[in-house]
Amino acid sequence: MGASLPTLQIPDLPLPIYDDALLCADTVHVYENESRDAISRVANRLASVNAPTTGPTPQQLKARIDLVDLHRPLGSTQDSFTELNELYFNDAVYFHDPKYAAHLNCPVVIPAVAAENFVTSINTSMDTFDQSAGATLIERKLIEFTAELIGFEAGQADGIFTSGGTQSNLQAMLIARNTATAKLRGTLPERLANLRIYCSEDAHFSIRNAAMLLGLGYDAAVSIPTDAQHRMDIQALRVQLDADRAAGLVPMAISATSGNTDFGAIDPLPQLRAIATEVGAWFHVDAAYGCGLLASSSHRHRLDGIEQADSVTVDYHKSFFQPIGSSALVVRSAASMESIAHYAEYLNPRAEADATPNQVAKSLQTTRRFDALKLWVTLRSLGAQRLGDMFDQVIALAEDAQQEVAMRAQLHMAADVQLSTLVFSFEDPQHPLDLAEHNALANQIRQRLYSSGEAMIAATTVKGKRLLKLTLLNPNTTLADISEILDAICSIGSGILAERTLGEKK
Ligand SMILES: *Cc1c(COP(=O)(O)O)cnc(C)c1O
Repeated sequence: MGASLPTLQIPDLPLPIYDDALLCADTVHVYENESRDAISRVANRLASVNAPTTGPTPQQLKARIDLVDLHRPLGSTQDSFTELNELYFNDAVYFHDPKYAAHLNCPVVIPAVAAENFVTSINTSMDTFDQSAGATLIERKLIEFTAELIGFEAGQADGIFTSGGTQSNLQAMLIARNTATAKLRGTLPERLANLRIYCSEDAHFSIRNAAMLLGLGYDAAVSIPTDAQHRMDIQALRVQLDADRAAGLVPMAISATSGNTDFGAIDPLPQLRAIATEVGAWFHVDAAYGCGLLASSSHRHRLDGIEQADSVTVDYHKSFFQPIGSSALVVRSAASMESIAHYAEYLNPRAEADATPNQVAKSLQTTRRFDALKLWVTLRSLGAQRLGDMFDQVIALAEDAQQEVAMRAQLHMAADVQLSTLVFSFEDPQHPLDLAEHNALANQIRQRLYSSGEAMIAATTVKGKRLLKLTLLNPNTTLADISEILDAICSIGSGILAERTLGEKK
C-alpha cells in the first residue's frame, strides 16, 4: 500500500456528447447495459475480496481523489466505474467480510439489494400519495407489521420510515417535547428551559444531540449511571428525578436503550415504563440495534415491556440485514404524530388530510426515498423469522466468542456479552502499564490491525480506559474467524510490548 502513488489517467478530450443521459423509454437498453456492468463489477469484487480493508490512509486516498477534475467528465459510465477502482472499490471497507467486526454494519440480504434497483430507477418520492401511490401503502403496512412485532395495539399505532436511528430518535424527542410543552404554561423559552430527558450514560449520542437540536441544550439530556452490565441504574434514576423535580425541572422523556451501542445492554423496560408514568414523561425505547430481537424465536423475551413504550426506534439497517438507509420510528398512538404535522397547500392541504394518505405530515423529510421497498421484498421472500434466526446466530457466536476471549490470558472482558458485541482489554501481566500507556497501546493495536488489513475492530472508552471492541453482525462469521482475530490482537499487542522492552534496553 505504502508505495502505490496516484496513477490516474486523465485523457485530454473535448466534452463528450452523451445523448442517452436520461432514463426513459428510448434509453432502457443503456440503462440495462450500464446496470449489468455495475452489477458484474460488484459481483467480481465481492467474489475476490478476502479482507475487510486494505488499510489505506486518508492521505493516500485524498491524493488520488484530488487528481480528479470534475470539470472534465470522462464521457462514459464505464470509464467512470473504472476510474472508481482506485478511488473507492479497491480500498473500500467491505462489511460482508467475516473479519469485519468494527461497527454496527451488517452484511445485506440479497432480496433487499436487488430491490434497490426499483427504489432508484422508479425514484418514487414518499411525501404524498400522488407521488408514490402503492409505495405509501406498502410503507404503511410495514409500519403496522413492525408495530405488531413490538406488540402495539392493532389500529392504534403509527410511524414513519426514516434515514436512520439518529433521525428516528430526533423525531421521538420532538414529539416528546411537543407533548410536554403542551402541558406547560409560560412563554416557549420558559417552557423549554426546564425540560429534561433521562437516558443512561451508555445511550447513543443522538439523544443528546436531539436535545441540542430541539432547543433544550445538550445538558437537558441527563446521563444516568449504569450497573455493572451497563443497564440504566433505576435507583440512580429515581434519585436524579427526585432532585430535578424538587428543583422545578420537568421530566420530558425517559429514553431507554435496548441494545446499547457498545455493550448491547438492554435497559430495564418495565421498570422504566412505570417510572415514566409516575413522573408524566414520554417513554421512548431506542432499539436501533436490538430491534432484531423482535423477529427472534429464542430471545424475543429480552424486549418484554417494549410494547408499553410511547415510541420505538428500529434500525432495519442494523439487525434486519437491510442496506442503508432503512429505519423507522413507531409510535404507540397515531394521535401523537399530529403534534408535528404540517400542511402545505401545494402538497398536502389539511382539507384532504382524511381522504388521502400523505406520509409527509408524519416525516421530518419532504422528498423521501422508498426505502421501505427493500424490507418489503425481504419479508415477502425470506420472511421475518429468517432474519430473526440470523440475528440469533450472531448472538450465539458472540456468546461463544466470549469463551475464546476467556481462553487468552492477555484479554479481559469488560462486561459479559449481552447481544453481539464484545468489549475487552489487552493487558499483559508481564508488562504492567499506567492508564495513558494502556490507552496508547489499545489504539496502536487497533491501528496496526487495520493497516495489516487482516481484520477490522472498533474501540471505545469506559471510565477513561480505552477498550477494544468486536461488533458481530455477520451470520457467516465463524468462531474460527473470531479466534484468528483475537490471536492477531494478542500477537500485535505482544509485538508492541516487545518493541518497547527492546527500546528501553538500548
Ligand atoms: C446506531 C445507533 C443509533 C443511530 O442510528 P443511525 O442509523 O446510525 O443513525 C442510535 N441508537 C443506537 C442504540 C444505535 O446503536
